[in-house]
Amino acid sequence: MYLKTGVADKELVSNALPTEERRASGPYAIIECFQEIPCNPCTEICPFGSILPMDDINDLPRMDYDTCTGCGLCAAICPGLAIFIINESYSDTVASVGIPYEFVPLPQKGDVVKMMDRAGEFVTDGKVLRVVPNKKYENTPVVTVEVPKDKVNEVRFLQLKQEAEVAMPTADPNDEENLPDTTIICRCENITVGEVRKMIDQGYDDFDELKRLIRTGMGPCQGRTCRHLIMQEISRKTGKKFEDIELGAFRPPTKPIQLEQLIGGKEDV
Ligand code: SF4
Ligand code: SF4
Repeated sequence: MYLKTGVADKELVSNALPTEERRASGPYAIIECFQEIPCNPCTEICPFGSILPMDDINDLPRMDYDTCTGCGLCAAICPGLAIFIINESYSDTVASVGIPYEFVPLPQKGDVVKMMDRAGEFVTDGKVLRVVPNKKYENTPVVTVEVPKDKVNEVRFLQLKQEAEVAMPTADPNDEENLPDTTIICRCENITVGEVRKMIDQGYDDFDELKRLIRTGMGPCQGRTCRHLIMQEISRKTGKKFEDIELGAFRPPTKPIQLEQLIGGKEDV
């Protein structure tokens, strides 16, 4: 279900949470990264080694909650915006959630914002406690918001209250038709939605054609991250049904592997 909708269900999320005892003892990072992709900056940035080293860059990150301080560095560096900083320990009734936020304008301390769940549905209001712009690392700002304690692991996105009145440079995230052309659609090859749209307008409306012409899906993820997004874009631009669009060729290796595994013939790679 997660791979179809991109929305983590309760079971996935509860498996990622630490024990009740750890949750009550202080801030912690929750990593909601559930798809094996070649990515590991979270393991490199943690100053306490709390995100354990990966044997393979496609592995899912694993946490050592005993050493995590909730410092938030991992949330700011994660390109998938998949890490949140939770603090359930400072009050019986409220808790805080640190959310990576890449929209402008940034909220300000004291603002009351709308808190949404993983599917983008409104859950509750929240009060902004702090905004860390992370200039030092030039990474994603992390906005920490106070919410009712029983909602802290439900809310995962925020929206400014005044958003309706402010002319936002970014489109409604639920309306993919209006994604700005500058949005990166293929992160491995740094290709924007605008470049893909331009090629589709020229008649290249097949995933493999786009791959040959502008390298979408040619990077380390081999299309696992961008393939469906590009097919959706083809569907929107051409009016073809999504299911009628060719998935494109899958060629081995279907994920990056180490040379020693190829040379040594290691099994179960
Ligand atoms: S919050 Fe800080 S200590 Fe915890 S995993 Fe992230 S970087 Fe490491
Ligand atoms: S940096 Fe983010 S997307 Fe990359 S492996 Fe870590 S949690 Fe997953």
